[in-house]
Amino acid sequence: MITVSHLTKTFTHADGTAFHALDDISFHIDAGEVVSIIGPSGGGKSTLLRVLSLLERPNGGSILVQGEDILAPSYPQQRLRRQMGFVFQQFNLFPHLTVLGNITLPLTKVLGLSGSEARERALETLNHVALAEKADEHPNNLSGGQQQRAAIARTLAMGSRILLLDEPTSALDPTMVGEVQGVLRLLAKDGLTMLIVTHRMRLARDIASRTFFLHQGHLLEDDTPSNIFKHPKHTETQTFVQQIHSLRFDIATRRFDFYDMMSQIRQFCLRYALPEKMDPITHIVEEMLLLLGNYHSPVHIEVNHSELSGASSVVILHQGETLSPLERTDADELAVMIIRGMSSHIETDLTPNGVRLTFDI
Ligand code: ADP
Ligand code: MG
Repeated sequence: MITVSHLTKTFTHADGTAFHALDDISFHIDAGEVVSIIGPSGGGKSTLLRVLSLLERPNGGSILVQGEDILAPSYPQQRLRRQMGFVFQQFNLFPHLTVLGNITLPLTKVLGLSGSEARERALETLNHVALAEKADEHPNNLSGGQQQRAAIARTLAMGSRILLLDEPTSALDPTMVGEVQGVLRLLAKDGLTMLIVTHRMRLARDIASRTFFLHQGHLLEDDTPSNIFKHPKHTETQTFVQQIHSLRFDIATRRFDFYDMMSQIRQFCLRYALPEKMDPITHIVEEMLLLLGNYHSPVHIEVNHSELSGASSVVILHQGETLSPLERTDADELAVMIIRGMSSHIETDLTPNGVRLTFDI
């Protein structure tokens, strides 16, 4: 379906120095393969998709799509538009058109379908992504998840058998990620060839049959998701896939902005963890601060989450203390009960800095 050889894309900085956003990239993708593309920001993921879809011209190398050299001067670029669809992070729907109008416009303008043919095909595609009910709505009246499904439907209606998606879930409210992932799974089953750039490690692992790790313009790994996530060849990959997201606070004075900390924790839970972890995490922090309120030494708080394993924890270091606040005879019993009920496992460590409690959530 797609064969890429020695692809290079160079950008020039303002000071005149050149650097490779893509450096000698080669791969072959068969029809029906679903490839997830992961890697640190700036690694070249978006550039790769943009070059594949001719939104950007490479400096060297070749790209064959269904055996045709799409970089050849004689290649009709309109043909690529019918074979390959691009789904952006920011849905890019026309706000003044209805959902149906957004889908029929390219069908009539680019494919030359009649009004009724376009309408029929658009409704069929909307049905496929469970959005037929919203055909006559304007994008602004749709949730983010619905807008992204409408954008996917617009691309599908063009009949493309190759779909490139650049962070399709990253502009979405976390509660809507699931519905877009559901549609992506459906398309994978339909046999579409897909390249999906995502920072969601579980999506990258679960949806794809193959994963690329792009790092500083190099295709550092091209392997099965299970090898990439369990046995990566490079330490860069291992560090990247196993990264733990953390939020840290040091409370040293009573003037600390408690409310701001709590809203940062809630946002963190929405962004990375499952929404159902929000209550346990915020309750533990609140009740622990209540318990510690009677003492006067500084407190360090950490909320950690590993996207890959799904494990989360709260770490509370009570500096200068030698006894766990949960073990004190004068501790508020109700608070202790709530805290114990919210965590699946509590680890207590006595460190030179004080008592460190780790709550697994
Ligand atoms: P990713 O999507 O993996 O975060 P990008 O492909 O967006 O990475 O970018 C790769 C590198 O190329 C980055 O260093 C970025 O700053 C640079 N880059 C991307 N597009 C341009 C551009 N149009 N002009 C100059 N530099 C660019
Ligand atoms: Mg990008």
